[in-house]
Amino acid sequence: MIYLDNAATTRLAPEVLEEMLPYFSENYGNPGSVCSMGTAAKRAVNGARESIADSMGAEAGEIYFTAGGTEADNWALKAAALAHKGGHIITTRIEHHAVLRTCSYLEEKGFEVTWLDVDRYGMVRMEELQAAVRPDTILISVMFANNEIGTLEPIAEIGALAGKRGILFHTDAVQAYGQVPIRVRELGIDLMSVSAHKLNGPKGVGCLYVRNGLKLGPFVHGGGQERSRRAGTENVPGIVGFGAAARRAVRNMGARTARETALRDYLLERLLKEIPDCRLNGHPRLRLPGNVNVSFSGIVGESLLIMLDMKGICASSGAACTSGALEPSHVLLAIGLQEEEARGALRLTLSEENTKQELDIAVQEIKQCVLRLREMHI
Ligand code: PLP
Repeated sequence: MIYLDNAATTRLAPEVLEEMLPYFSENYGNPGSVCSMGTAAKRAVNGARESIADSMGAEAGEIYFTAGGTEADNWALKAAALAHKGGHIITTRIEHHAVLRTCSYLEEKGFEVTWLDVDRYGMVRMEELQAAVRPDTILISVMFANNEIGTLEPIAEIGALAGKRGILFHTDAVQAYGQVPIRVRELGIDLMSVSAHKLNGPKGVGCLYVRNGLKLGPFVHGGGQERSRRAGTENVPGIVGFGAAARRAVRNMGARTARETALRDYLLERLLKEIPDCRLNGHPRLRLPGNVNVSFSGIVGESLLIMLDMKGICASSGAACTSGALEPSHVLLAIGLQEEEARGALRLTLSEENTKQELDIAVQEIKQCVLRLREMHI
């Protein structure tokens, strides 16, 4: 199997698994217990908290563990909104559904939402953001990097604008964290969502960074865990794995992402050169190191995916399965693709484990499959 779907999830790193294992077996204490097994578990959770805080230039007390990126997004947006009786929220049309649908929910509850358009590369236009700000704007939520097309957003500029206007700034950094250096203070970020399974950590665990001094109510009510802001017995093995994955990601980020960028550019160049009517989606340079997203005219991406899967290549398309029907991606439509072009999209996302040889095989197979599909008109 050639795995080119690392934006969906990544393989758990063996060293991460090794650190997690004792917390499933002999070290099974509850961090809330006062006995020595409990305090050992609490130490492990707090060790992970420090590693994650260090990795983003935050303090340990600003990290709150959640059950992943979706929960962190829901918490940030709902709690930030609930701190006000009403008000105006700014977000973009290309956010992950965890943000989009939470904003729609808040809209139903009486908040006003501005959905910013993006340019043809998927980038927020600062002048449009600036023009959208109102006296009652309470929150700006713009993702750090897009999960489909990999475009990196102007986060420092948005943070500066939000700071100057006294507006809370949340960013969904699920795809960017571990791929690009992030320093929350320098970037003016108040709230940031992260997920462990995108950086060779376990699934079902993530965190919300909450800037010191920010009054944010809890999302999950119950016990006093996470300083009474996120109730529920901690997922100790998951959190330990997240901490290990964060340390690992920071340690090898430079070399890993340089290698991925070189492979990405090689793959993209070959696809664009060797397959007629193939276009790149997303920004040519300001994109995630491992992200290639292309559209092939005259084909349906899902058919291509199935054919590639039969040949042992795991990738993703530009469509989402909503209630049984294949809808073209909202991101590709937002950057101006016609429905037909959006349906013919293919996302290939790399990891440090991919080799040039694998990419050569992938290009060969994609070429043949696209040709066949075009002949068959499907
Ligand atoms: N936000 C973005 C940008 C994502 O890519 C994802 C997952 O694909 C999520 C949020 C959801 O994260 P999780 O799978 O941890 O709930």
